[in-house]
Amino acid sequence: MLLDQVKQAGVVGAGGAGFPTHIKLQTQVEYYLVNGAECEPLMHKDRELMCRFSREIVQGLQWAADCVHADKRIFGIKSKNQCAIEALKTAIGTSSVSIHEFGDYYPAGDEYELVYGITGRLIPPQGLPLEVGAVVNNVETLFNIYQAAQGRPVTDTFLTITGAVKRSMTTRAPIGMQVRDVLALAGGPTLSSYRIMESGLMMGRLLPDDSQPVTKTTGGLIVLPADHRLIQRYTTPPRVMDRIGHSACDQCSYCTELCPRYLLGYDVQPHLVMRSLGFTAMGTELWNTHALLCCQCGICTLYACPEGLYPREACLRGMTDLRGKGQGKWQGSKQVSVHSIKDSRRVPVKLLMRRLGVMDYDAHAEFVETSAHPEQVRILLKQHVGVAAEAVVKAGEKVERGQLIGRIPEGKLAAAVHASISGIIAEVTTEAVTIRAK
Ligand code: SF4
Ligand code: SF4
Repeated sequence: MLLDQVKQAGVVGAGGAGFPTHIKLQTQVEYYLVNGAECEPLMHKDRELMCRFSREIVQGLQWAADCVHADKRIFGIKSKNQCAIEALKTAIGTSSVSIHEFGDYYPAGDEYELVYGITGRLIPPQGLPLEVGAVVNNVETLFNIYQAAQGRPVTDTFLTITGAVKRSMTTRAPIGMQVRDVLALAGGPTLSSYRIMESGLMMGRLLPDDSQPVTKTTGGLIVLPADHRLIQRYTTPPRVMDRIGHSACDQCSYCTELCPRYLLGYDVQPHLVMRSLGFTAMGTELWNTHALLCCQCGICTLYACPEGLYPREACLRGMTDLRGKGQGKWQGSKQVSVHSIKDSRRVPVKLLMRRLGVMDYDAHAEFVETSAHPEQVRILLKQHVGVAAEAVVKAGEKVERGQLIGRIPEGKLAAAVHASISGIIAEVTTEAVTIRAK
């Protein structure tokens, strides 16, 4: 019953790539873990959700964990977020749900880190939490599971709006709303020349412009000056990254020594991948295999490298190259053992923020219930892992908020998509459905 409700409601993993949640619920596991260990600098969406909607999140967890017969139900949260911990304790009451506290370091919210931190189990290389008896959901996903059980589909996304805006806040906005309209909820940018990072400075993406629509997985919008060092880093052309990497990398190996995946025991060695920059395509494979287990956390590029080089990007390119040759599957040892110095090499978030040059934007971003009424939304049919949903509406039709507009293609991995506002369908393409408010 719950599984079907979650499928109908279009629930996807809200904390990352958007894996369809109904697939995760088709299993049996020992642990149901809730990822509330938000670690991206300046992002506070999960904390605020836990502070404001703890009852719904805990109920969502209980129903979802019942569905997969998980008897261990545990939240992973940072100790600094006492408001969330207190609110959850009240909502948990005398039930068996427990809370595991993490320190304030990056990337505590990485799935491999979270599973190891709570269960002591290491996910096999390129594996899933399922392989060690766990399902992991972000707190917003559990809120959406709760909503689905009430017959309410996913129509809004929760997000932190921060950086160079008039009033940093966390709020919710209709899916498909244009980024510039969402920024206006926070008073708009305070600069005339700015760029926007979506969902995080470390693992998020630099938006091409502010006309993009927000999606089910948008967790935040961060406005930075267009000439900010981070923006310059993200806009450096790949050929320039390669050229300076080839000439300036002195193989000091700091990138590897601080790599969280390496410290967890996986064979990720970005300094070796950097060697591939000096080779022709023929000679790169040996070095690129050390990139296959990289999670793109960005520590090497944005924190560790003293030369300001781009080992993360080298890893991404190495992985892409190997996948293109059909060699993307990990062939090395499945044995993983945690590095003995792991704990002493953690990266504190405050230190990371200083390195990123964003301390000036360190705002609380409290939750504010705004009433966003966009004139138009452009809802993407693919906001999830898998194939795009199939539009079930035509231009000119009237739709109500919550109405199905995109269904899962028969037998495919995908998620349903719903209207986030009431109005008239203005356009339908294979990529998106545009609705104009009535
Ligand atoms: S930290 Fe920078 S200079 Fe040192 S090995 Fe890594 S990429 Fe090269
Ligand atoms: S991005 Fe860099 S630090 Fe992060 S996992 Fe990959 S190689 Fe390691």
